[in-house]
Amino acid sequence: MYTNSLAFAQQCDREDALAHFRNKFLHPSDQHGKQLIYLCGNSLGLQPSATASYIEKELKDWAKYGVEGHTDASHPWLPYHEFLAKNMAEIVGAKQSEVVIMNTLTTNLHLMMVSFYQPTKTKYKIVIESDAFPSDKYAMESQLKFHGVDPKEGLILWKPREGEDLCRYEDLEKIMEDHGNKIALLMIGSTNYYSGQHFPLKKITDLGHSYDCTVGFDLAHGAGNIAPDLHNTGADFAVWCTYKYLNSGPGSLGGCFVHERHENNEKLNRFAGWWGHNKDTRFNMRQDFDPLPGAEGWQLSNPPILSMAAIRASLDTFAEAGFKNLRAKSEKLTGFLEYLLDELNNNQIHIITPRNKKERGAQLSIQVKSADKNLHKKLTEAGVISDWREPDVIRVAPAPLYNNYEDVYEFVQRLKALL
Ligand SMILES: *Cc1c(COP(=O)(O)O)cnc(C)c1O
Repeated sequence: MYTNSLAFAQQCDREDALAHFRNKFLHPSDQHGKQLIYLCGNSLGLQPSATASYIEKELKDWAKYGVEGHTDASHPWLPYHEFLAKNMAEIVGAKQSEVVIMNTLTTNLHLMMVSFYQPTKTKYKIVIESDAFPSDKYAMESQLKFHGVDPKEGLILWKPREGEDLCRYEDLEKIMEDHGNKIALLMIGSTNYYSGQHFPLKKITDLGHSYDCTVGFDLAHGAGNIAPDLHNTGADFAVWCTYKYLNSGPGSLGGCFVHERHENNEKLNRFAGWWGHNKDTRFNMRQDFDPLPGAEGWQLSNPPILSMAAIRASLDTFAEAGFKNLRAKSEKLTGFLEYLLDELNNNQIHIITPRNKKERGAQLSIQVKSADKNLHKKLTEAGVISDWREPDVIRVAPAPLYNNYEDVYEFVQRLKALL
């Protein structure tokens, strides 16, 4: 299927129906103006060239209308989050009413825990995967402490086996068999940020629910990358950020999913704010809290419109390309990267990420045995933007919107020269 040559890479680029999207992004260059190979979309996605004009429009409407922009701006600020929900819902496979853009990822994780982690004296433990992103682990530990549980006792880690890199589903089943009656919540970061392993979300949800646990996912590395099909997984909640694969700018707002079966669930605790209140009476001010049905009801504050404008710019690009098309290209592009790394035939190199393309997204985590951070430094000097994780892992994620086959080919050539 693949051939190890520059000509082949260029041929793939010529045949790629999505190739022109590359020019809709601003690509970083070195100090001599030479374009860098950017493979860090899993960390911070590149800026769409349209973003500036989307933000500028809001600045102009603010200048022109002042407070009246809430209703009179060309995209009125009052319902602004509603302009994002449809496209975002499509990307994560949810219904529009199940999705809201608000706050940031870790904040949303805490808000979701308020609603979906309601420990009792006997059922209070939380399961996460062992290499969870640090912020998620801190959030879980602090929630446990907040409820008076010692994290050492309350947190169960789903770990790869000795000598292995990936988590096995059967080991999660075993955890549930052994401790299921004490577990209140499964919170799994799919896709795992370190290994690139994408977990079977539906199986995990069914497993958790069969033990009467709530199930939530952190899709920071999934949203805009894999197709998580959130509604059909049946998960209770999910959270993600928009600055990685979703190209919405540093520190931009997060996304949040609440399954529709909870849309009017009054038994759930929640921390409330006025933006989650009934839109018809929100400005009457002297009302009892009357939550909006669905995910919108979890909003706290009126949101930062400038960040939301950047999200809208990005989501419009995704909608134009079509997420299914992007995913198809992504599998092929990452497959090419995998093929070229295998072709190096170098036993210093070990790909941690699953070989099965259904169990991964764009990212490959490449372990370079006996290498140290110096390799990453040299790669950077050679014009490649990638990501280094101690002790010896390079993470690269060709993004189907703006990376091409030639990027992937060139990256492997430069890596080879340094090994
Ligand atoms: C990127 C990332 C975060 C970052 O959290 P913020 O609240 O957006 O700073 C958290 N968790 C995971 C799994 C991530 O990949």
